Amino acid sequence: MTFKLPPLPYDLSALEPHISEKTLSFHYGKHHHGYVNKLNELLVDSPLASKDLETVILETSGDAQKAAIFNNAAQVWNHTFYWNSMKPAGGGEPGKDLLKRIEKDFGDFDGFCTKFKEAAITQFGSGWAWLVEDQGHLKILKTGNAETPLTHKGVTPLLTCDVWEHAYYLDYQNRRPDYLDIFLKNLANWNFAEQNL
Ligand code: MN
Repeated sequence: MTFKLPPLPYDLSALEPHISEKTLSFHYGKHHHGYVNKLNELLVDSPLASKDLETVILETSGDAQKAAIFNNAAQVWNHTFYWNSMKPAGGGEPGKDLLKRIEKDFGDFDGFCTKFKEAAITQFGSGWAWLVEDQGHLKILKTGNAETPLTHKGVTPLLTCDVWEHAYYLDYQNRRPDYLDIFLKNLANWNFAEQNL
């Protein structure tokens, strides 16, 4: 066992009623855990097995022959980042310093929310919405499938929302916009975003 499933930073029921225990137990216990197991299987007898997760992601990114390793490694990393991007009784506006940066780059907090939600909703199919820092500016990105801004040079991920259907379907069915509203209003962990800045 090279890579381990990191502990969830809260109980499986801690995000209720916004994200149910059922969703978290599947999402963390089956999906996230599944990516860890698959990655370990793929790395048996590979020199990459001795590297850290970030290095595995960077060294396999864009290499079609190593797409399966990249996909599973990036999904392990993205999910750990996502769990930390939420907390019980989160959401609403961030603290003063980050709020100022958001106002500088998005006009105001509502403007940020509108753009973040739009990126998340318009990500066709599976993927992720991100708040990142890029050359001194805050930006919103969306990535497809397992793609992660970790591989974008000079870009620091601050916060993410998983928009794969498995993240919200049990609780919100096809209503991805409702899930995004709740993420921003009740779940976003701005302390985590501030720590990443
Ligand atoms: Mn997911």
